[in-house]
Amino acid sequence: MRKTKNFSDLDSVHAKQLQVLNFVREKDNCTRTEIAEALDIDKKTVSTLVRDLSNKLLIESAGYKDSQVGRRQEILRLNGAHSNFIGIDLGATHVIGILVNLRGEVVDRVYFEIRPQLPVKLILEQMKTVCQTLIKSQRATAEIPSIGLCVPGFVNPDTGISVIAENIPGWRDVRIREIFEQEQGKPVYVEDCSRAAGFAERWLGEGKQAKDFLTLDLGYGIGMSLFLNRELYTGSGYKAGEIGHSVVKLDGTECTCGKRGCLETVASGRGIARQAASGIAEKRSELLERLTHGKCETVTAHDVAIAASMNDEYSVALLREAGRYIGAATANAVNLLDPQLLILGGGLVNAGSILIDSIKESLKQYTMMGIAEDIEIRVSKLGVDSSALGIALIAMDRIFCP
Ligand SMILES: [Zn+2]
Repeated sequence: MRKTKNFSDLDSVHAKQLQVLNFVREKDNCTRTEIAEALDIDKKTVSTLVRDLSNKLLIESAGYKDSQVGRRQEILRLNGAHSNFIGIDLGATHVIGILVNLRGEVVDRVYFEIRPQLPVKLILEQMKTVCQTLIKSQRATAEIPSIGLCVPGFVNPDTGISVIAENIPGWRDVRIREIFEQEQGKPVYVEDCSRAAGFAERWLGEGKQAKDFLTLDLGYGIGMSLFLNRELYTGSGYKAGEIGHSVVKLDGTECTCGKRGCLETVASGRGIARQAASGIAEKRSELLERLTHGKCETVTAHDVAIAASMNDEYSVALLREAGRYIGAATANAVNLLDPQLLILGGGLVNAGSILIDSIKESLKQYTMMGIAEDIEIRVSKLGVDSSALGIALIAMDRIFCP
Protein backbone atom coordinates (compact mmCIF):
# COMPACT_ATOMS: atom_id res chain seq x y z
CA MET A 1 0.00 0.00 0.00
CA ARG A 2 1.23 3.50 -0.79
CA LYS A 3 2.14 5.71 2.12
CA THR A 4 0.90 9.25 1.91
CA LYS A 5 2.78 12.30 3.02
CA ASN A 6 1.82 15.86 3.79
CA PHE A 7 4.49 18.04 2.22
CA SER A 8 3.58 21.11 4.26
CA ASP A 9 5.38 19.07 6.94
CA LEU A 10 8.63 20.01 5.25
CA ASP A 11 8.26 23.61 6.39
CA SER A 12 8.44 22.39 9.96
CA VAL A 13 11.87 20.73 9.49
CA HIS A 14 14.00 23.16 11.45
CA ALA A 15 17.70 23.97 11.18
CA LYS A 16 19.01 21.33 13.64
CA GLN A 17 16.87 18.60 12.08
CA LEU A 18 18.16 19.64 8.65
CA GLN A 19 21.72 19.35 9.87
CA VAL A 20 21.08 15.77 10.99
CA LEU A 21 19.12 14.96 7.83
CA ASN A 22 21.95 16.21 5.62
CA PHE A 23 24.52 14.27 7.61
CA VAL A 24 22.49 11.08 7.17
CA ARG A 25 22.23 11.83 3.44
CA GLU A 26 25.97 12.38 3.12
CA LYS A 27 27.03 9.34 5.18
CA ASP A 28 24.20 7.06 3.99
CA ASN A 29 24.44 4.59 6.87
CA CYS A 30 25.31 6.12 10.25
CA THR A 31 24.56 5.82 13.96
CA ARG A 32 23.33 8.34 16.52
CA THR A 33 26.83 8.37 18.10
CA GLU A 34 28.41 9.29 14.75
CA ILE A 35 25.88 12.09 14.27
CA ALA A 36 26.52 13.43 17.78
CA GLU A 37 30.30 13.40 17.29
CA ALA A 38 30.31 14.86 13.78
CA LEU A 39 27.82 17.65 14.51
CA ASP A 40 28.91 18.28 18.10
CA ILE A 41 25.37 17.82 19.48
CA ASP A 42 24.70 15.93 22.73
CA LYS A 43 23.33 12.41 22.34
CA LYS A 44 20.00 13.15 23.98
CA THR A 45 19.29 15.97 21.52
CA VAL A 46 20.38 13.75 18.62
CA SER A 47 17.90 11.09 19.75
CA THR A 48 15.10 13.67 19.84
CA LEU A 49 16.04 15.00 16.40
CA VAL A 50 16.23 11.47 14.96
CA ARG A 51 12.82 10.64 16.44
CA ASP A 52 11.31 13.79 14.89
CA LEU A 53 12.81 12.98 11.48
CA SER A 54 11.60 9.37 11.73
CA ASN A 55 8.10 10.60 12.57
CA LYS A 56 8.22 12.74 9.43
CA LEU A 57 9.22 9.55 7.51
CA LEU A 58 12.44 11.23 6.38
CA ILE A 59 14.82 8.70 7.95
CA GLU A 60 14.47 5.04 8.85
CA SER A 61 16.31 2.20 10.53
CA ALA A 62 18.59 0.07 8.35
CA GLY A 63 19.24 -2.51 11.08
CA TYR A 64 21.75 -2.63 13.93
CA LYS A 65 25.49 -2.96 14.33
CA ASP A 66 27.43 -4.24 17.34
CA SER A 67 29.11 -1.56 19.40
CA GLN A 68 32.35 -2.02 21.38
CA VAL A 69 30.78 -0.26 24.37
CA GLY A 70 28.09 -2.89 24.74
CA ARG A 71 24.73 -1.88 23.32
CA ARG A 72 23.94 -2.52 19.69
CA GLN A 73 23.65 0.68 17.70
CA GLU A 74 20.87 1.41 15.26
CA ILE A 75 21.95 2.26 11.72
CA LEU A 76 20.08 5.17 10.19
CA ARG A 77 19.47 6.05 6.56
CA LEU A 78 17.14 8.14 4.42
CA ASN A 79 13.65 6.68 4.10
CA GLY A 80 13.00 5.84 0.46
CA ALA A 81 9.25 5.67 1.16
CA HIS A 82 9.06 9.38 2.03
CA SER A 83 8.61 10.62 -1.53
CA ASN A 84 9.34 9.96 -5.20
CA PHE A 85 10.79 12.40 -7.72
CA ILE A 86 10.70 12.57 -11.50
CA GLY A 87 13.79 13.37 -13.54
CA ILE A 88 13.44 13.87 -17.31
CA ASP A 89 16.49 14.16 -19.54
CA LEU A 90 16.09 15.55 -23.03
CA GLY A 91 19.04 14.52 -25.16
CA ALA A 92 19.47 15.21 -28.87
CA THR A 93 18.47 11.61 -29.60
CA HIS A 94 16.40 10.54 -26.58
CA VAL A 95 14.01 11.44 -23.80
CA ILE A 96 14.72 9.47 -20.62
CA GLY A 97 12.40 9.68 -17.65
CA ILE A 98 13.24 8.27 -14.25
CA LEU A 99 11.30 7.96 -11.03
CA VAL A 100 13.46 7.73 -7.90
CA ASN A 101 12.78 7.52 -4.20
CA LEU A 102 14.37 9.71 -1.52
CA ARG A 103 17.38 7.37 -1.43
CA GLY A 104 17.97 7.93 -5.14
CA GLU A 105 16.94 4.36 -5.97
CA VAL A 106 15.26 3.97 -9.36
CA VAL A 107 11.60 3.04 -9.02
CA ASP A 108 10.57 3.30 -12.69
CA ARG A 109 12.09 4.31 -16.04
CA VAL A 110 10.81 5.37 -19.47
CA TYR A 111 12.95 5.68 -22.60
CA PHE A 112 12.02 7.25 -25.96
CA GLU A 113 14.29 7.60 -28.95
CA ILE A 114 13.82 10.85 -30.86
CA ARG A 115 15.26 12.43 -33.97
CA PRO A 116 17.04 15.77 -33.43
CA GLN A 117 15.18 17.13 -36.46
CA LEU A 118 11.81 16.84 -34.69
CA PRO A 119 9.87 20.11 -34.30
CA VAL A 120 10.17 21.68 -30.84
CA LYS A 121 6.45 21.21 -30.21
CA LEU A 122 6.68 17.46 -30.81
CA ILE A 123 9.75 17.12 -28.57
CA LEU A 124 7.84 18.88 -25.78
CA GLU A 125 4.91 16.51 -26.36
CA GLN A 126 7.27 13.53 -25.97
CA MET A 127 8.61 14.98 -22.72
CA LYS A 128 5.07 15.52 -21.45
CA THR A 129 4.16 11.91 -22.32
CA VAL A 130 7.19 10.63 -20.41
CA CYS A 131 6.25 12.82 -17.44
CA GLN A 132 2.63 11.69 -17.49
CA THR A 133 3.66 8.01 -17.71
CA LEU A 134 5.78 8.41 -14.57
CA ILE A 135 3.11 10.42 -12.73
CA LYS A 136 0.73 7.51 -13.29
CA SER A 137 3.36 4.81 -12.66
CA GLN A 138 2.02 1.77 -10.83
CA ARG A 139 5.51 1.31 -9.40
CA ALA A 140 5.52 4.64 -7.53
CA THR A 141 6.10 4.07 -3.83
CA ALA A 142 5.11 7.54 -2.57
CA GLU A 143 3.77 10.92 -3.62
CA ILE A 144 5.67 12.98 -6.18
CA PRO A 145 6.18 16.52 -4.83
CA SER A 146 8.40 17.88 -7.62
CA ILE A 147 9.79 17.29 -11.09
CA GLY A 148 13.24 17.92 -12.62
CA LEU A 149 13.91 18.57 -16.31
CA CYS A 150 17.34 18.73 -17.89
CA VAL A 151 18.05 19.89 -21.41
CA PRO A 152 21.27 20.37 -23.34
CA GLY A 153 22.83 23.77 -24.09
CA PHE A 154 22.30 26.97 -22.12
CA VAL A 155 19.70 26.70 -19.38
CA ASN A 156 18.91 29.21 -16.69
CA PRO A 157 17.71 27.42 -13.53
CA ASP A 158 16.55 30.76 -12.04
CA THR A 159 14.20 31.73 -14.88
CA GLY A 160 13.43 28.14 -15.94
CA ILE A 161 14.17 29.07 -19.54
CA SER A 162 16.08 26.77 -21.86
CA VAL A 163 17.87 29.47 -23.84
CA ILE A 164 19.39 27.42 -26.64
CA ALA A 165 20.18 23.81 -27.49
CA GLU A 166 22.62 23.91 -30.41
CA ASN A 167 22.01 20.29 -31.32
CA ILE A 168 18.21 20.69 -31.56
CA PRO A 169 17.28 22.97 -34.47
CA GLY A 170 14.79 25.69 -33.57
CA TRP A 171 15.10 25.19 -29.81
CA ARG A 172 15.32 28.78 -28.51
CA ASP A 173 14.04 30.44 -25.32
CA VAL A 174 11.74 27.58 -24.39
CA ARG A 175 9.93 28.43 -21.10
CA ILE A 176 10.25 24.85 -20.06
CA ARG A 177 9.60 25.28 -16.34
CA GLU A 178 6.45 27.33 -16.90
CA ILE A 179 5.09 24.82 -19.43
CA PHE A 180 5.52 21.86 -17.06
CA GLU A 181 4.45 23.69 -13.91
CA GLN A 182 1.21 24.74 -15.60
CA GLU A 183 0.58 21.23 -16.83
CA GLN A 184 1.48 19.34 -13.64
CA GLY A 185 0.73 21.85 -10.89
CA LYS A 186 3.96 20.91 -9.10
CA PRO A 187 7.28 22.72 -8.64
CA VAL A 188 9.61 22.06 -11.59
CA TYR A 189 13.40 22.45 -11.52
CA VAL A 190 15.53 22.79 -14.64
CA GLU A 191 19.24 22.38 -15.27
CA ASP A 192 21.69 21.59 -18.04
CA CYS A 193 22.13 17.85 -18.80
CA SER A 194 25.87 17.77 -18.13
CA ARG A 195 25.52 19.53 -14.80
CA ALA A 196 22.70 17.15 -13.86
CA ALA A 197 24.98 14.20 -14.72
CA GLY A 198 27.67 15.65 -12.44
CA PHE A 199 25.09 16.00 -9.69
CA ALA A 200 24.30 12.28 -9.98
CA GLU A 201 28.02 11.46 -9.71
CA ARG A 202 28.28 13.72 -6.64
CA TRP A 203 25.57 11.85 -4.71
CA LEU A 204 25.38 8.37 -6.19
CA GLY A 205 28.41 7.82 -8.37
CA GLU A 206 32.17 8.09 -8.54
CA GLY A 207 32.27 11.62 -7.08
CA LYS A 208 30.81 10.69 -3.68
CA GLN A 209 34.09 11.11 -1.82
CA ALA A 210 35.79 13.76 -3.97
CA LYS A 211 36.15 17.41 -3.00
CA ASP A 212 37.06 18.72 -6.47
CA PHE A 213 36.07 16.74 -9.53
CA LEU A 214 35.16 17.18 -13.19
CA THR A 215 32.67 15.00 -15.05
CA LEU A 216 32.91 14.78 -18.81
CA ASP A 217 29.56 14.20 -20.47
CA LEU A 218 30.39 12.56 -23.78
CA GLY A 219 27.33 12.13 -25.95
CA TYR A 220 25.79 13.61 -29.09
CA GLY A 221 27.34 16.84 -27.76
CA ILE A 222 30.10 17.21 -25.17
CA GLY A 223 29.72 18.98 -21.84
CA MET A 224 31.43 19.07 -18.49
CA SER A 225 30.33 19.68 -14.93
CA LEU A 226 32.62 21.15 -12.32
CA PHE A 227 32.30 20.37 -8.63
CA LEU A 228 34.67 22.61 -6.73
CA ASN A 229 34.88 22.27 -2.97
CA ARG A 230 31.82 19.92 -3.10
CA GLU A 231 29.71 22.62 -4.78
CA LEU A 232 28.47 22.69 -8.36
CA TYR A 233 30.17 25.55 -10.20
CA THR A 234 27.76 27.11 -12.71
CA GLY A 235 29.63 30.26 -13.79
CA SER A 236 28.21 33.77 -13.54
CA GLY A 237 25.47 33.11 -16.13
CA TYR A 238 24.97 29.32 -15.84
CA LYS A 239 27.20 28.66 -18.84
CA ALA A 240 30.22 27.00 -17.23
CA GLY A 241 31.38 23.66 -18.59
CA GLU A 242 31.09 24.19 -22.35
CA ILE A 243 34.23 22.18 -23.03
CA GLY A 244 32.62 20.85 -26.22
CA HIS A 245 33.08 24.33 -27.67
CA SER A 246 36.70 24.74 -26.70
CA VAL A 247 38.72 25.09 -29.89
CA VAL A 248 40.97 22.15 -30.73
CA LYS A 249 41.49 22.87 -34.45
CA LEU A 250 42.11 26.47 -35.44
CA ASP A 251 39.98 27.23 -38.53
CA GLY A 252 38.53 23.71 -38.45
CA THR A 253 35.03 22.58 -39.45
CA GLU A 254 32.11 24.87 -38.61
CA CYS A 255 30.39 23.95 -35.35
CA THR A 256 26.71 24.16 -34.34
CA CYS A 257 27.67 27.15 -32.14
CA GLY A 258 28.78 29.11 -35.21
CA LYS A 259 32.53 28.98 -34.41
CA ARG A 260 35.07 26.74 -36.07
CA GLY A 261 37.17 23.81 -34.88
CA CYS A 262 35.35 23.11 -31.60
CA LEU A 263 35.94 19.79 -29.82
CA GLU A 264 32.38 18.74 -30.73
CA THR A 265 33.15 18.94 -34.46
CA VAL A 266 35.67 16.11 -34.17
CA ALA A 267 34.86 14.11 -31.06
CA SER A 268 31.14 14.29 -30.12
CA GLY A 269 28.65 11.63 -31.20
CA ARG A 270 27.51 14.09 -33.85
CA GLY A 271 31.09 14.90 -34.91
CA ILE A 272 32.08 11.23 -35.13
CA ALA A 273 28.96 10.46 -37.20
CA ARG A 274 29.67 13.38 -39.55
CA GLN A 275 33.22 12.15 -40.19
CA ALA A 276 32.03 8.55 -40.58
CA ALA A 277 29.50 9.68 -43.21
CA SER A 278 32.33 11.24 -45.23
CA GLY A 279 34.40 8.08 -44.74
CA ILE A 280 31.60 5.91 -46.13
CA ALA A 281 31.09 8.26 -49.09
CA GLU A 282 34.84 8.05 -49.79
CA LYS A 283 34.67 4.21 -49.60
CA ARG A 284 37.05 4.06 -46.65
CA SER A 285 35.11 1.45 -44.66
CA GLU A 286 33.33 -1.48 -46.23
CA LEU A 287 31.97 -2.58 -42.86
CA LEU A 288 30.41 0.81 -42.07
CA GLU A 289 28.93 0.86 -45.54
CA ARG A 290 27.36 -2.56 -44.90
CA LEU A 291 26.12 -1.58 -41.40
CA THR A 292 24.35 1.48 -42.80
CA HIS A 293 23.19 -0.27 -46.01
CA GLY A 294 25.08 2.37 -47.98
CA LYS A 295 23.03 5.25 -46.53
CA CYS A 296 25.96 7.19 -45.17
CA GLU A 297 23.76 9.99 -43.78
CA THR A 298 22.20 7.55 -41.29
CA VAL A 299 25.49 6.47 -39.70
CA THR A 300 25.82 7.05 -35.92
CA ALA A 301 28.70 6.98 -33.44
CA HIS A 302 27.15 3.73 -32.22
CA ASP A 303 27.69 2.18 -35.69
CA VAL A 304 31.31 3.35 -35.57
CA ALA A 305 31.74 1.73 -32.14
CA ILE A 306 30.28 -1.56 -33.46
CA ALA A 307 32.56 -1.48 -36.50
CA ALA A 308 35.57 -0.66 -34.30
CA SER A 309 34.77 -3.61 -32.02
CA MET A 310 34.94 -5.76 -35.19
CA ASN A 311 38.41 -4.37 -35.92
CA ASP A 312 37.36 -2.07 -38.74
CA GLU A 313 40.55 -0.06 -39.21
CA TYR A 314 38.85 3.15 -40.29
CA SER A 315 36.45 3.13 -37.30
CA VAL A 316 39.23 2.30 -34.83
CA ALA A 317 41.27 5.24 -36.16
CA LEU A 318 38.24 7.54 -35.96
CA LEU A 319 37.59 6.69 -32.30
CA ARG A 320 41.31 6.97 -31.44
CA GLU A 321 41.45 10.39 -33.01
CA ALA A 322 38.29 11.50 -31.16
CA GLY A 323 39.82 10.29 -27.90
CA ARG A 324 43.02 12.20 -28.63
CA TYR A 325 41.10 15.48 -29.01
CA ILE A 326 38.91 14.83 -25.95
CA GLY A 327 42.05 14.12 -23.91
CA ALA A 328 43.79 17.28 -25.10
CA ALA A 329 40.80 19.56 -24.41
CA THR A 330 40.28 17.95 -21.01
CA ALA A 331 43.97 18.34 -20.19
CA ASN A 332 43.51 22.11 -20.60
CA ALA A 333 40.67 22.05 -18.07
CA VAL A 334 42.69 19.84 -15.72
CA ASN A 335 45.74 22.14 -15.94
CA LEU A 336 43.49 25.09 -15.14
CA LEU A 337 41.60 23.58 -12.18
CA ASP A 338 43.82 20.83 -10.74
CA PRO A 339 40.91 18.54 -9.71
CA GLN A 340 41.59 15.34 -7.78
CA LEU A 341 39.24 13.28 -9.95
CA LEU A 342 38.03 13.17 -13.54
CA ILE A 343 34.95 11.11 -14.34
CA LEU A 344 34.32 9.98 -17.91
CA GLY A 345 30.57 9.74 -18.46
CA GLY A 346 27.85 9.94 -21.10
CA GLY A 347 26.64 7.54 -23.78
CA LEU A 348 29.88 7.68 -25.81
CA VAL A 349 31.69 5.92 -22.96
CA ASN A 350 29.88 2.79 -24.19
CA ALA A 351 31.95 3.02 -27.39
CA GLY A 352 34.44 0.96 -25.37
CA SER A 353 38.09 0.71 -24.51
CA ILE A 354 39.47 2.11 -27.79
CA LEU A 355 38.00 5.54 -27.06
CA ILE A 356 38.60 5.42 -23.28
CA ASP A 357 42.24 4.30 -23.64
CA SER A 358 42.88 6.99 -26.23
CA ILE A 359 41.40 9.68 -23.93
CA LYS A 360 43.58 8.49 -21.04
CA GLU A 361 46.74 8.40 -23.17
CA SER A 362 46.13 11.85 -24.56
CA LEU A 363 45.31 13.26 -21.11
CA LYS A 364 48.60 11.95 -19.82
CA GLN A 365 50.41 13.45 -22.79
CA TYR A 366 48.88 16.93 -22.54
CA THR A 367 48.43 17.39 -18.77
CA MET A 368 51.33 19.09 -17.00
CA MET A 369 53.79 16.95 -15.11
CA GLY A 370 52.97 17.16 -11.42
CA ILE A 371 49.23 17.33 -12.16
CA ALA A 372 48.99 14.28 -14.43
CA GLU A 373 50.40 11.98 -11.71
CA ASP A 374 47.90 13.16 -9.11
CA ILE A 375 44.63 13.04 -10.96
CA GLU A 376 42.51 9.93 -10.75
CA ILE A 377 40.44 8.96 -13.80
CA ARG A 378 37.31 6.87 -13.41
CA VAL A 379 34.62 5.76 -15.84
CA SER A 380 31.05 6.49 -14.71
CA LYS A 381 28.96 3.49 -13.73
CA LEU A 382 25.67 5.39 -13.98
CA GLY A 383 25.30 4.83 -17.72
CA VAL A 384 22.96 6.77 -20.00
CA ASP A 385 20.57 7.50 -17.13
CA SER A 386 23.01 9.74 -15.26
CA SER A 387 21.45 13.06 -16.35
CA ALA A 388 17.88 11.91 -15.62
CA LEU A 389 19.03 10.60 -12.25
CA GLY A 390 20.87 13.83 -11.48
CA ILE A 391 17.95 16.09 -12.33
CA ALA A 392 15.65 13.95 -10.15
CA LEU A 393 18.13 14.50 -7.30
CA ILE A 394 18.09 18.25 -8.01
CA ALA A 395 14.28 18.18 -7.83
CA MET A 396 14.56 16.47 -4.43
CA ASP A 397 17.16 18.92 -3.17
CA ARG A 398 14.60 21.30 -1.67
CA ILE A 399 13.97 18.68 1.02
CA PHE A 400 17.59 18.99 2.11
CA CYS A 401 18.10 22.73 1.43
CA PRO A 402 14.63 24.32 1.61
ZN1 LIG B 1 31.21 25.05 -31.01
